[in-house]
Amino acid sequence: MQSEKKPVVAVGSCLVGEPVRFNGEHKRRNPHIEHLKDHLELIPICPEVGIGLGVPRETIRLVEVGGEMRARDSKTQQNDVTDALQGYADRQQKEMPQLCGYILVKGSPSCGMERVAYYNERGNKVASDQSGIYARRLLENDPLLPVEEDGRLHDHALRESFVSRVYLYSRWKSLLAEDLTFSRLVNFYADYKYLVMAHSVPIYQQLGPLLANGKQKELDELADEVIHLMMTAFKKVVTPGQQANVLQHIQGYLKNKLSAEEKRSLQQLIDQYRKGIVPLIAPMTLLKHHFERSPDPYIERQVFMRPYPDELALRSHLY
Ligand code: SF4
Repeated sequence: MQSEKKPVVAVGSCLVGEPVRFNGEHKRRNPHIEHLKDHLELIPICPEVGIGLGVPRETIRLVEVGGEMRARDSKTQQNDVTDALQGYADRQQKEMPQLCGYILVKGSPSCGMERVAYYNERGNKVASDQSGIYARRLLENDPLLPVEEDGRLHDHALRESFVSRVYLYSRWKSLLAEDLTFSRLVNFYADYKYLVMAHSVPIYQQLGPLLANGKQKELDELADEVIHLMMTAFKKVVTPGQQANVLQHIQGYLKNKLSAEEKRSLQQLIDQYRKGIVPLIAPMTLLKHHFERSPDPYIERQVFMRPYPDELALRSHLY
């Protein structure tokens, strides 16, 4: 993979130390967001401050009004900021076409991704199964946008999935910024083939025939289907079994290049990874070492070999 620009990812301002919460504080620093800073261009955004609510301020909450979810001040319910938050999300989309991901804020009636509480007009809590008004609008405007919540980033598999989607979307936007052609689309997918297989074999099996018969469709329609399927695959957390399956495929390219002993050592590491004894980085390092000695152009172009910068260390954890 050639060196590339850092993908642009928005993050709730309160997650990166800005004292913008209703009480004039910020949230506790999340070490994983700190770590992502070195590899993603993080843009802090606070929609409540953005629409002119002060700091400190009255809290807002989601209130169901006539079957519709509204954001209103918690005390009097007289101040309704739903339209302002939605308008702010619309502006963000226009002003940041390069946006490739968003780190949202757990439980927020503006920035929450899921499981946000809502109330009835009498002030009684009804359930906690909504997304924040601003977050929901972001995703209505751009359903492909990779999003994740601060707390969920502590889970290494979810963090890996989020970062993979961000890098996929960033490269996808770069592809669209060039003149999209059928062959560029096919090449783009060819680079991702093994990574898609790692995330979802059924989607991998769908994408091959879709592209093989792709000329029967309008290019834009085809491209749309391809990226939707790829994003759907990447939302699925990869299991060690699926990764090991791809490692076996890739190992096949070294069939005539390794000694019996080298094959045995590599197979042993793949098995140990599958059983959760060593992290993915172990067989990957040995594979890369063998491909440095015996390069293969098809494997060299596979994003699977380096989906994001190694320094993110997302392949260094045991499942
Ligand atoms: S959750 Fe969103 S609206 Fe609330 S303080 Fe953080 S960034 Fe601002």
